[in-house]
Amino acid sequence: MRVIIAGGGLGGLSAALRAAELGAQVTLLEKGDSPGGSFVYSSGYVWSYADLPTFRRETPGGDAILQRLVLERLGSCLTWLEDAGGGLLARETGNPLTFGARFDPERTVSALVERLEASGGEVLTDTAFEALREDDAGRVTGVLARSSGGKQEYGADAVILASGGFAGDPELVARHIIGGPGRMRVRAHPRSTGDGFRAALQKGALASAGLDEFYGRNLPAPPAEFPPERFVEVSQLYGRYAVAINARGERYADEGADWSETALTRATAHQPGLYAYYILDAAGLEGRVRERTAKEMVGTARRTGGTVVEATSLTGLADNLAEHGVPHDAFLRTLEEYNATIVAGENLSPPRSGQAWPLRFPPFVAVKVAPSITHTVGGLAVDAGCRVLRRKDERPIPGLYAAGVEVGGVSVGGYTSGLASALVFGGTAAESAVADG
Ligand SMILES: Cc1cc2nc3c(=O)[nH]c(=O)nc-3n(C[C@H](O)[C@H](O)[C@H](O)COP(=O)(O)OP(=O)(O)OC[C@H]3O[C@@H](n4cnc5c(N)ncnc54)[C@H](O)[C@@H]3O)c2cc1C
Repeated sequence: MRVIIAGGGLGGLSAALRAAELGAQVTLLEKGDSPGGSFVYSSGYVWSYADLPTFRRETPGGDAILQRLVLERLGSCLTWLEDAGGGLLARETGNPLTFGARFDPERTVSALVERLEASGGEVLTDTAFEALREDDAGRVTGVLARSSGGKQEYGADAVILASGGFAGDPELVARHIIGGPGRMRVRAHPRSTGDGFRAALQKGALASAGLDEFYGRNLPAPPAEFPPERFVEVSQLYGRYAVAINARGERYADEGADWSETALTRATAHQPGLYAYYILDAAGLEGRVRERTAKEMVGTARRTGGTVVEATSLTGLADNLAEHGVPHDAFLRTLEEYNATIVAGENLSPPRSGQAWPLRFPPFVAVKVAPSITHTVGGLAVDAGCRVLRRKDERPIPGLYAAGVEVGGVSVGGYTSGLASALVFGGTAAESAVADG
């Protein structure tokens, strides 16, 4: 049987190699000039929450069937990846809520491509999937793709969409996620522009829940500049030690709502101008997330050319921030009320999870941050075999599968591992495609 895979991130590569192992003739189409997708910029942690109750608690709106699939299959998929020559770095994640492993992205991508080609599969780079072909009965029969040589049709018994969602399409992001004008920096490769998502919807596919959600990080806001290789390093992941203030000088979110600060990042995407200031005092600067202190992360923001303002008093900070357009009196009032509420032992509004300290000890620092999008949370709705479902009856579209973050709805209301979605859904889609074929 012939399987076409659209997208060469970890999702597409896993699907391609698994399908080839099962005897399929595989062609992987990759829009960029090399495979790997976002994996090559990532920290390489492939993980799941430790058990289903934790998964449900951390991502309460997510699809429980897909969460169970990740949880139950991740262990064997990690072994498969290691056996396939993936560059294993560690067998743990360092996060007690999760289990998983860490892989070296470059080594793993090379190994998967090598194995795929050794199994007779082919990887066509600079070749963009554009549309699905189907027969009169609605069965997917192939794809239309474009390369420098022009447009070409590829016939197939099964098509696996793994083009990485729509984080790279500003129009779709503005419509579904921001809900108005504005633009988020893409904290990933730029090529996931919704090609698979749109093509499947055009053929009657069902969209998942969570189209308005995304996974990303707050990064130093422009004029900060940094290349994709520094995406991990420049993350400003210390909101839990800071007070987050928007352009109106107001608190707008629970800074400590979740360990990955996904909720805070999402809330920042709905603030005027899509930016915020993280305000810290000397005690907050000593706060530690994994191996780095907030102070070190602030230093990184400064070195990238980001806006970092410092003063020896909150009034001084308000004076300095006023020069950046933050209303002086509103800012000062917010922080004075924040401090007074904590000292009085009363409830903050918005609430604040975890421990809250008043901002007391100089120096006081404000770092301008802006949300960035790594990948979308909503996407194509699939069944437990990663078969893409039809809108009209929620039955599988014959011949059509999805893998990686093209699959939507796993982490609605929270955050889970995109690399696990790539590895597990890639393998699952390939197995279903071959079994169904
Ligand atoms: C800085 C950073 C750190 C991260 N750290 C982690 C981590 O530690 N753990 C974790 O779980 N996740 C992490 N992630 C997220 C993770 O990398 C992604 O969720 C995961 O790689 C998604 O894999 P994918 O194959 O679904 O999509 P992608 O990696 O986006 O791959 C999609 C591929 O499809 C190609 N493509 C797009 N459109 C087309 C088309 N029309 N035709 C053909 N090809 C197309 C793209 O070029 C790309 O190669 C991180 C991401 C970044 C950027």
